[in-house]
Amino acid sequence: MGSIEHENDNHVIDPIDPEEFRTQAHKVVDFIADYYKNIEQYPVLSQVYPGYLRKNIPEESAPNVPESLEQILQDVTRFVVPGITHWQHPNFYAYFSASKSTAAFLGEMLSSGFNVNGFNWLSSPAVTELEMLVVDWLGEMLKLPKSFLFSGSGGGVLQGTTCEAILCTLVGARDQKLREIGRDKFSKLVVYASDQTHMCLKKAAHVAGFGDENLRVIETTKSELYALSPNSLRIAIQSDIENGFIPFYLCATIGTTSTNAVDPLGPLTAVAQPHKIWVHVDAAYAGSACICPELRHFLNGVENVNSISLNTHKQFFSAPDCCCLWLKDPSALKNSLSTNPPYLRNAATDSGEVVDFKDWQITLSRRFHAIKLWVVMKSYGQENLRSFIRHHVEMAKLFEEMVKRDQRFELVAPRNFGMVCFRLSFWDVDMSNVMNARLLEEINKSGKAFMIHTVVKGVFVIRITIGGMMTKERHVVSTWKLVQELAEKVMVMEGI
Ligand SMILES: *Cc1c(COP(=O)(O)O)cnc(C)c1O
Repeated sequence: MGSIEHENDNHVIDPIDPEEFRTQAHKVVDFIADYYKNIEQYPVLSQVYPGYLRKNIPEESAPNVPESLEQILQDVTRFVVPGITHWQHPNFYAYFSASKSTAAFLGEMLSSGFNVNGFNWLSSPAVTELEMLVVDWLGEMLKLPKSFLFSGSGGGVLQGTTCEAILCTLVGARDQKLREIGRDKFSKLVVYASDQTHMCLKKAAHVAGFGDENLRVIETTKSELYALSPNSLRIAIQSDIENGFIPFYLCATIGTTSTNAVDPLGPLTAVAQPHKIWVHVDAAYAGSACICPELRHFLNGVENVNSISLNTHKQFFSAPDCCCLWLKDPSALKNSLSTNPPYLRNAATDSGEVVDFKDWQITLSRRFHAIKLWVVMKSYGQENLRSFIRHHVEMAKLFEEMVKRDQRFELVAPRNFGMVCFRLSFWDVDMSNVMNARLLEEINKSGKAFMIHTVVKGVFVIRITIGGMMTKERHVVSTWKLVQELAEKVMVMEGI
């Protein structure tokens, strides 16, 4: 075979030539390493204007002739980098950080290198079996009860994002309830959440066929630290039942996006359980922090919920996207999401001895996420992973202390994890909102740091999330100095 020349093969570039791959990939690794090394020279928040790229690359079509990697990387530097908001910059404090690590990068390389699609066990047994292993490892680190683990009676799955995980549990819970009460009751089902719940719940509810009349958004208060009150939940449920509605799903949050509020799982499940309500815990950001024993208490009561999810790409040193979802009863998901077309039938599936993760998610195709988490856990070990998180929490505490010492500022909500909510304090709320918006604009325009705001009960709040893998104490200290200087400037400009 090998000696036969295949005429047609001689005319094409080989898309994967191992030696070519080796040299080119090394060059890209060097490019990225230099990027990290020099990252502080860039403005954290990209300063381009909308449409900048098309203005700079006017070509109407893709090139006809191949370009060299050098040429391509030059274009990356010229056209792409200016439009990048540098999430790995040590002064990136916006949203929730995407805490990438070298290990996650290497894991992604392996995932990308194998380039397999692990929709069922057969399509690459290691993808499924390694996933079952790492979700159990992570669940064990979080001290989740065995009932959520494969080694117990439950199981976990790696999905792309929390939005998908919530939609899957919502659909599973919906169908479970409808099997019990009849599909004609669909319009009577009610989903519960607080006014601090992430928008992904509302989106999932809409995708799952529910209108606003099926969604109860329960108001939180400052005095209860923006957590969902079990009493308010009880009242809402009672009122719905009296009006002929059927409660079936509650989304509780550990670490809300606006202020990192923590809904009390124990008391909430005590209210929900008599009504057989599926309780899901969205711990997208803060869940990972609970691997530290001193923070684990935020998950108290988790033993009574049905499912819990967190984003390993937020605070577990992995890269987007990778959401881990654990369930006590995975069959609820499978009953709603499994399909069995002839082209995917195989003996392993028929034996019932394997997990086919395509039945635990919306999509069919799935990446080899597990190897990334496996490499992360093996490279650092549990104790280092905990100390990374502690370091972030310590720096957030430091920032909090500095805010407290400046009379012009105030903290807006208690700090539970690595995020601090603060604002310039004025008696008049409108004035305060204007001034804090101006201050944030100045901070982000400076290119020296990037934060975002939230609005809590009508109050404009600046939030700083500390979770970057390159962030050191000196960055946090100089960022606070920057905030103070710019506050001074804004107040002078406004004549205060
Ligand atoms: C980030 C976040 C989400 C959304 O996560 P995706 O993975 O982007 O869907 C949902 N809930 C909370 C509490 C979050 O912090």
